[in-house]
Amino acid sequence: MGLARSGQAAARLLAARGEHVRAVDSGHPDGAAGLEGVGVEVFLDTDGLAQLEGTRTVVKSPGVPREAAVIAAALERGIEVTGEMELAWRALPNRFVAVTGTNGKTTTVELLGHLYRTAGEPVAVAGNVGTALSELVGEVEPDTTVVCETSSFQLEDTVAFAPECAVFLNLAPDHLDRHGDLEHYLAAKLRIFANQGNDDVAVYNADDPFAAGADLGGCARRVAFCAGAAPDCEVAVAEGTVFYDGEPLLAVSELGLFGEHNVANAMAAAAAALAMGIDRDAVRAGLRSFAGVPHRLEPVAEREGVRFVNDSKATNVASATVGIRAFEGGVHAILGGSEKDEPFAPLVDPIEECAVACWLVGATSERMARELAPVVEAGVELHRCAGLEDAVRSAAAAARPGEVVLLSPACASFDAFESYERRGDRFREIVAELG
Ligand code: ADP
Repeated sequence: MGLARSGQAAARLLAARGEHVRAVDSGHPDGAAGLEGVGVEVFLDTDGLAQLEGTRTVVKSPGVPREAAVIAAALERGIEVTGEMELAWRALPNRFVAVTGTNGKTTTVELLGHLYRTAGEPVAVAGNVGTALSELVGEVEPDTTVVCETSSFQLEDTVAFAPECAVFLNLAPDHLDRHGDLEHYLAAKLRIFANQGNDDVAVYNADDPFAAGADLGGCARRVAFCAGAAPDCEVAVAEGTVFYDGEPLLAVSELGLFGEHNVANAMAAAAAALAMGIDRDAVRAGLRSFAGVPHRLEPVAEREGVRFVNDSKATNVASATVGIRAFEGGVHAILGGSEKDEPFAPLVDPIEECAVACWLVGATSERMARELAPVVEAGVELHRCAGLEDAVRSAAAAARPGEVVLLSPACASFDAFESYERRGDRFREIVAELG
């Protein structure tokens, strides 16, 4: 059920193993019809109820809600319902490091992949970026460690999923439209630990009120990371230094990533890699050399002492807040995009603390100008611009050496771009054209 990338990958995996597969989607996603070429029966624009007849197991894509009629009907009839991630995990003999959390998953899995590669250890990274887990089956050697991003939607469909190392980064109110309340959302996240055994490792953020207060479940060895010198945190940050097991590992200023939130992501990745036996020197070297993930506080260029940073993935106010606060000052913030009715007032404090000017673009620019008006009294300029190109050119002309032109829009991109990636790519192009 659900034939986006992971659903298609699951159908191919099962068909290749000789299973009789019916692939169903209530719409008609790109590429789904092509599954017929590998012997899958494809049913598009249908709810799937008719296809339950004679079905033994339903493999549900994370985008299909558990409340969907077909899932409810399957459960009622006693048909097993599982997820694509569970399926791929069962089919892969590899060691798994799984990462969950509201924010920072992609950054942390990509950093973990980099730490393994720095140590010369075979690794494959799967998740929202690039590859679905099912696509790895038959492609990776058994000694490769699989590092994967796991969303709460994938976790709620797990049955026996038990990664050798599970990492829980943080929890913030998000996706409550699907999970109902925070308690259910947390319960879905904690599935990552539920089936772990004594030899496994559970990495958690001791600074996160939800993780620190919860019974994590499972039987894995607990490894905590935190800011401050708490004795029970194996990885900690104090006085500008990252410590491992009470010994300095490296200075925060040496991290390739920047921003407070990325210090937490770096601690999480280091804790997991070290617990999985990656050499301390390789972890140190990898933390220094990892330059981040595209569109997430990605340094794009430096021109006449002005840095240009692409944080196009900051599609909500919380992300833009950490993006703007990643700099001590001198920020020219390019803000705005398509409207999702989120209040912008929470941006006033970070802007007053760190920005010298805001360059407003997109469908939200009028509302943003109104809600951010208080920053003008604090001496921050507010400019409304014709579009991204106008904003980048104007900000570049105004910025002085030592300052930063930051695209961290606090909004989705759909008013002007197909995706946040296209918006970030366009930002890079405009910066390159500045000469
Ligand atoms: P995810 O894959 O969970 O969406 P990303 O690594 O893609 O996370 O980061 C998305 C955005 O979330 C970043 O641009 C940043 O603004 C914010 N972010 C990343 N890590 C954290 C963190 N540890 N705490 C809070 N916010 C974060």
